[in-house]
Amino acid sequence: MERITLTYVPYKKHYVFCVDEAGFSEVAEVMMHVQSDQASYELFQVACVKDFTVWHTEMEERLFKQKMGTYLYVAASWDMLNVIKHIAIDVGFTDEEAQYRGIGEQEKAVFCCRCHGVTKVENILFCTKCPECGISLTISDHFSKNKEAYLGYTDIQ
Ligand SMILES: [Zn+2]
Repeated sequence: MERITLTYVPYKKHYVFCVDEAGFSEVAEVMMHVQSDQASYELFQVACVKDFTVWHTEMEERLFKQKMGTYLYVAASWDMLNVIKHIAIDVGFTDEEAQYRGIGEQEKAVFCCRCHGVTKVENILFCTKCPECGISLTISDHFSKNKEAYLGYTDIQ
C-alpha cells in the first residue's frame, strides 16, 4: 500500500485532528496551514490503547457533536486508525470530509487456534473472522515465533 500524505483542504468551517503519538508529526504541516489561515480547529490526542473503552466513547461523543462542514484528519498507528475511522464513518463522516493516514505495519498475521490457518489481516485491534474456517477470532498480543503470527483465540471453548 502506498504511503498517503495528508493534504490541506482549505475553506472548511472547522477542522478536527485526531492523532496518537505516532501520528502527530503527520498532521503538523496541515495544521500549520490551518493556523495560518486562522481557521478554527481542535486537536484530539489518543494516548493509550489500554483505556480503549474510555477513549472510544469519548471519541464517539466528540466526533458526533461536530457540525456540518467539519473536516477530519486522522493520523495514527493502523490499529488506532481503523478504530477511529469506524467511529468517524459511524457518525457520518464521508470520504470527502476526512483524510486518514495510517502509520507503521498495516497488516499482521493471525494464527487460528481452531483450524491452525495463518491469515493476514488488517491491523485492527481486537478481532477478525478466520477466512479458513469462518470462526470469530479474538486477536491476542501474543506473537508466536514458531508460527510467525499473533495467536487468535476463539470465544467458544
Ligand atoms: Zn480457522
